[in-house]
Amino acid sequence: MPAPLSFVRRFLDALPGDDRTDREPRPVVAALWSRVQPTPVRAPRLLAWSRPLAQQLGLDEARMQEPLTTQVLAGNALWPGMDPYAANYGGHQFGHWAGQLGDGRAIVLGELRAADGSVQELQLKGAGPTAYSRRGDGRAVLRSSLREYLCSEAMHALGVPTTRALSLVATGDDVVRDMFYDGNARPEPGAIVCRVAPSFLRFGSFELPTARGDTALLRTLTDFTLRTHFPELGTPGRDAYAALLHEVAARTARLCAHWQAVGFVHGVLNTDNLSLLGLTIDYGPYGWIDDLDFGWTPNTTDAGQRRYAFGNQPGIGLWNTARLGEALLPLVDDDERVVEDALAHFQRVYAEAATEWFGRKLGLTIDPQRGDEQLVQQLFDWLVAQPTDMTLFFRALGPLLLADAAPAALPESLRAVFYGDVPEAHAAAGHAWLLRWWTRVHQEPRPAATIAAAMAATNPRYVLRNWLAQTAIEAATNGDLTVLERLFTALQRPFDEQPQFAEFAQKRPEWARSKPGCSALSCSS
Ligand code: AMP
Ligand code: MG
Repeated sequence: MPAPLSFVRRFLDALPGDDRTDREPRPVVAALWSRVQPTPVRAPRLLAWSRPLAQQLGLDEARMQEPLTTQVLAGNALWPGMDPYAANYGGHQFGHWAGQLGDGRAIVLGELRAADGSVQELQLKGAGPTAYSRRGDGRAVLRSSLREYLCSEAMHALGVPTTRALSLVATGDDVVRDMFYDGNARPEPGAIVCRVAPSFLRFGSFELPTARGDTALLRTLTDFTLRTHFPELGTPGRDAYAALLHEVAARTARLCAHWQAVGFVHGVLNTDNLSLLGLTIDYGPYGWIDDLDFGWTPNTTDAGQRRYAFGNQPGIGLWNTARLGEALLPLVDDDERVVEDALAHFQRVYAEAATEWFGRKLGLTIDPQRGDEQLVQQLFDWLVAQPTDMTLFFRALGPLLLADAAPAALPESLRAVFYGDVPEAHAAAGHAWLLRWWTRVHQEPRPAATIAAAMAATNPRYVLRNWLAQTAIEAATNGDLTVLERLFTALQRPFDEQPQFAEFAQKRPEWARSKPGCSALSCSS
């Protein structure tokens, strides 16, 4: 039998909870969590689990193979020391204050002392109703759970800060969803993901106490957050509160820059979906950029407003940071300069991080004196003028540096990343840009081969393209898990060539252009 696991109770012991433990939807005031048991499911099956994460947590192969583990990851059993709860938080949704939201279908089972010494919350998403479920059923469908499982681990392998996913369990129960919100609700297979993070605190966790005028609760939460997750910012007090906002602003800015660099579109950047630790959190109708389009969003609910479109993410990160700042105002004597400073810091950090990322993607240390910023801007102007695959374009650039001379025309490897026919004038403009870039990179102090290698470690070959996730979903729905497994394996090494997985590096096939799940996703999950 595997050795017992060790659970700690940081959140439950330090923060006030709700007296009630039932699942009746209700406002929960003066409390940050409600104790709740997961609702058992009929026939759980462990479809997939992340070996790298299990290892980090100290859950060895024998433990993962045990029948009890599947029961725990399905919400049918608990490991000793687990004490499940749902967290209380609010949020701004699509620009409007929405009041109390909370974990309507997520239940934290416990805080595990992991093998690597860290403490990690294990949270089931889709484990049944809680006090925060409002009109929801507390469940999740297989398609959205599989997407969250795959993308969490793919993002981590890419180096993007994210909550993790330990497991994907099929529940054996159906869940009724109206996928297109068109009155055609139908049963779909249910599933549960076990998410893992040091904390699932959100901006909205801080907004809710302030919106209710409960400064004492806000202070308790913020003091806990500082002590537990940001000890380097000093003992709780006005300066530490300001430093916390400053730090979260910087992390969020860096996260936004990283999303832009890899072409990730979150889809629902409401303040309840922004992590206080600067992690990517709550994978719903997210998507990956195929052809570079700053106005693109995968989220059909946002198709009109496009508030959370690719190009808007940094601005929304800033807007959300302003909401967090307002929430913390009561702790800094309502001094709005604290918030203004943090927002200015966000903008500085974002600009620096984005410049650094796009410089690295192009093999350059950006130098405004040399006109590098114009070079980057000219590239964007060119890339958006005709549909061009963002991931493949950047990946194809590096190898060009290995030739003795600049290409005499737009090379085949770059033409291959266009979607559809491209006018010759556009190809010629691309070639002209390429010559400027090639000349500029050869002025860098590092040898071209070193730069090409660094570019290959920056520009991924494999990202979780929308149509790939959909292919894995369709196979899994028909009982075939091999696509999911192969995709998971390929995405563990996103920067390596991996010829055996070449099919996953293809640009979006024509059939996927307008297919639901491949280009557009509803929030129904
Ligand atoms: P999301 O848009 O996924 O971030 O969810 C927003 C809010 O709705 C959160 O409070 C969720 O817990 C809640 N929610 C979403 N789906 C469900 C569901 N099926 N049952 C209960 N609550 C849900
Ligand atoms: Mg959410």
